[in-house]
Amino acid sequence: MTDQSQIDALRDKPIPPQNLLIDGELCQSASGATDDVISPLNGALLTTTPAGTREDTERAIQAARRAFDDKRWRGMPPAARKKIMLRWADLLEENMLDLAVLGVRNNGTEIGMALKAEPGSAIATIRFYAEAIDKVYGEIAPTADDVMGLIHKEAVGVVAAIIPWNFPLMIGAWKLGPALAAGNSVVLKPSETASLSLIRMAELALEAGLPPGVLNVVTGEGKIVGETLSHSMDVDVIVFTGSGATGRRLLQASAASNMKRCYLELGGKSANVVFADTKNLSEAAAVSAAGIFRNSGQVCVAGSRLLVERSIHDDFVAELAKAAAAIRVGDPLDLTTQAGAVNNPTQLAQNLAFVETAQAEGGTLYHGGNQILQDTGGYFMEPTIITDVAEDHTVAQKEVFGPVLAVTPFEDEGDAIRLANSTDYGLAGGVWTSDLSRAHRMVREMRTGVVHVNTYGGPDVTVPMGGVKQSGNGHDKSLHAFEKYFDLKTAWFKL
Ligand code: NAD
Repeated sequence: MTDQSQIDALRDKPIPPQNLLIDGELCQSASGATDDVISPLNGALLTTTPAGTREDTERAIQAARRAFDDKRWRGMPPAARKKIMLRWADLLEENMLDLAVLGVRNNGTEIGMALKAEPGSAIATIRFYAEAIDKVYGEIAPTADDVMGLIHKEAVGVVAAIIPWNFPLMIGAWKLGPALAAGNSVVLKPSETASLSLIRMAELALEAGLPPGVLNVVTGEGKIVGETLSHSMDVDVIVFTGSGATGRRLLQASAASNMKRCYLELGGKSANVVFADTKNLSEAAAVSAAGIFRNSGQVCVAGSRLLVERSIHDDFVAELAKAAAAIRVGDPLDLTTQAGAVNNPTQLAQNLAFVETAQAEGGTLYHGGNQILQDTGGYFMEPTIITDVAEDHTVAQKEVFGPVLAVTPFEDEGDAIRLANSTDYGLAGGVWTSDLSRAHRMVREMRTGVVHVNTYGGPDVTVPMGGVKQSGNGHDKSLHAFEKYFDLKTAWFKL
């Protein structure tokens, strides 16, 4: 168990200027330019990261290409790759608290959640794929006797992994685990506003024995580093988690360059549907509140639309507001905090603007709505509930990516299904009911990648994670994630 004094001992630990990782070497950008890293906890300068240029990115791509072509990693027996990756997971575990605190100082997630969802989940993910890789077989096709068809699984090549600010270690591990286990080389591009823990994670991979050039890290701006990766003729696959706007640019860049595959994990506007027959409505209210307000709503699968059956609407929303009021927002490094900081001032301003628009369009500000704790110098916002939200309101259609819940009543199951599916997104959702048949019907009818039943949040690495519609394509997590990182090759023999 972590105690508060261990966290406090690390809270002001100096962070040296950070490096790029290219071809096994830690280095500065060739231009010498750096970006300031500002803490969302208090607005203070934490350190600097290299402002990666096109040349730096190209160098990293070529290092990854060489590492792939000379087979220094993919040519190792899977059991040998597994050993190195398990050592990496052990090193991550030894550094777990350091990684968690470093990440929180950089991105603002509350430490209680960060410990589990960041290094905790990253370690489990790296171990999962390390353990799996020497159990992946090719296939023999069911052919006639005079021929033989073999299906080989081969590493794809150079993978560019582009990561957002929320949960950088967890989402980073969802890409790095299967990509590296399968034998690919990777160029990793962390978010401008949450790179520190990922850089450290990559350094530990080198320490664990990952050969030089197999994992490279280039920090810097999306429009420089990200664009160079997406337009490169030497990158074979892009795996991306982030906004729809960036996802669209990646698809365009792929079409304009080498038609590299793009797997996109994008945003959501997930419906959490509460039926009147729910067994424990207070529990449903508390879990639904956590499902939108933890990490100050910066969770791609957040249940940001509450659809509630009209007969229980008023009582349920009152109960939910009580739960929201009880959420402790504040110092992300305090173990008792339940919702930390908003990652950056631009996002905070965007959240507040959504609240204004919601009211201007006819929504009612039922709870919260304000920036708080300004005296800290950090970026904090109250859990916010907007009621009387109609299906076509902006707050019902657009992802806020902040602690803002839009509430809409529904009449019956058909109405709930229609409303749940009424956005361009399809990432996650929830259903609360005591009717088992209705739960199964809702799971079938909701057009999303994940449906939670009588809970919200928590699926682990054993199940796939991905969106439908404009929430993306392809899957992270589970053995299905390997599908992105292997090519299938057929060998056809005449016997
Ligand atoms: P973002 O799209 O702004 O940035 C994500 C990454 O893309 C960053 O590393 C950024 O530098 C890079 N990038 C920006 N412009 C680029 C360009 N032109 N070319 C290439 N790369 C570029 O997203 P964000 O604001 O960091 O993250 C929040 C978004 O991520 C939300 O929409 C959220 O829902 C989504 N998200 C989705 C999932 C999921 O699994 N579906 C998980 C977490 C977050």
